[in-house]
Amino acid sequence: MSWARDGWLIEGGPSGYLDTEPTVTRLVEQAGLETEQLRARPAASRRFIYQRQRLHEIGPNLLKPVRSGLLGVAGVLRVFAEPAIRRRLDAGEESVWEFCRRRLGRQVADRIVRPAMLGIFAGDAERLSVDACFPALRRLEQEHGSILRGVMARRRAKADTNDPPRSRKLTSFRRGLQQLPRSLARDPQIDVRTGLQVTGIRAVPETTAGAPEQGRRYVLDLEGAGHLSADAIVIASPVQVSARLLHSLAPEAATLLAQVPVPPVVVVALGFSPTAARAFPQGFGMLVSRGEGVRMLGCLWESRIYPERSPDDHLLARAMFGGRLDPTALELEDTELVALARRELRSTLGIGEAPVLSRVVRWNHAIPQYEIGHVQIRQRVEHLLEALPGVYLAGDALEGVSFAKAAASGIRQGKRAVGYLRSVQRQREE
Ligand SMILES: Cc1cc2nc3c(=O)[nH]c(=O)nc-3n(C[C@H](O)[C@H](O)[C@H](O)COP(=O)(O)OP(=O)(O)OC[C@H]3O[C@@H](n4cnc5c(N)ncnc54)[C@H](O)[C@@H]3O)c2cc1C
Repeated sequence: MSWARDGWLIEGGPSGYLDTEPTVTRLVEQAGLETEQLRARPAASRRFIYQRQRLHEIGPNLLKPVRSGLLGVAGVLRVFAEPAIRRRLDAGEESVWEFCRRRLGRQVADRIVRPAMLGIFAGDAERLSVDACFPALRRLEQEHGSILRGVMARRRAKADTNDPPRSRKLTSFRRGLQQLPRSLARDPQIDVRTGLQVTGIRAVPETTAGAPEQGRRYVLDLEGAGHLSADAIVIASPVQVSARLLHSLAPEAATLLAQVPVPPVVVVALGFSPTAARAFPQGFGMLVSRGEGVRMLGCLWESRIYPERSPDDHLLARAMFGGRLDPTALELEDTELVALARRELRSTLGIGEAPVLSRVVRWNHAIPQYEIGHVQIRQRVEHLLEALPGVYLAGDALEGVSFAKAAASGIRQGKRAVGYLRSVQRQREE
């Protein structure tokens, strides 16, 4: 969902994705969008954390947070001691904060990981599960006994194979991320219907007179638009909607999905004149630590990432509020939110000038939280759905929270659905 006028393009939700999923890259090619892609400017690799009343640059290595004073000497020495920390043998899930505190030390866990989890997931680092959110980190510990040793070993293995390095480019499209689904929907071979709400899904046994049940079909109830009959369905709605839709088909799976917390997020987009734009640093944006008297979770400097998002020399900033630790931010009026964002941009970055444009986008249920217990939810739901022929669950409910991961999961589940349809077809022909 995006809004465009007079050279501005404001994304209401995601604004870019890391092109780490080869299936999504192929999908972009199929959609004919390679020439429409925007790549993040190199300067967008600079990222900041607002902490102890000032901006600290972080990454790409430990020198930045040390130079900026975000980490003290003890904090850095503790990171280098990571290979000496024994691996955890307990198989239970662990929070992202606890995992990072145990392996990398408290300074990293408190000063970098906490605000980063708020920025990425609008989530609470003490509740998010490292096993569900970052399974690769857990694997490094399990397989190599240490994150640092594991990273080095993987680099060496990659160098030996001469494989090209995996792409991790932050990418978007000229007319926003919506360009991908919109382009795909124009395929004349596909019947795409939009603007319809599925309100329920029922399974109908398929029988011929006197014969036992031969299979099943599904009937989708559409709000104000009758029904749709299908041999297979891929449910790719937000997790709380998917839970409702699955209720009559797989009640236990529905109950489990309904337990996934999905806190609200409010996006406050502000457009600034060239004079005010100059006061924004070069970089991707900033995360804000809690306890600074600032309610904003973070702010993306969109035009620093993709200059095409605003008219020449202007700057589009998107401030985020709400999330798992501050859900009541959603209760503020639009004018209060804009005033709050302006006040906090003044106190953090010294931006005093009034914006030339503002827009507020509300997400009542923004980002599913993969908290402790999510791995079990995922495994159980996947197991229960295995027993439901022709029903597939895609999107960010289980397989990863991001545009690319959700798209990749749609492709994966779509392929499974096609495989199932072929087998149904074969059975009918026999
Ligand atoms: C403010 C914000 C910023 C974000 N920024 C980023 C970012 O920069 N990069 C990134 O990678 N990720 C980002 N994310 C996360 C990313 O948006 C999600 O992970 C991704 O969109 C999930 O895709 P999805 O297809 O699972 O769900 P959605 O994108 O939520 O799509 C679900 C679809 O289901 C439809 N639907 C809902 N109910 C029904 C129904 N009853 N019947 C039929 N259809 C229905 C909806 O209309 C919608 O089209 C952000 C999220 C938010 C909220």
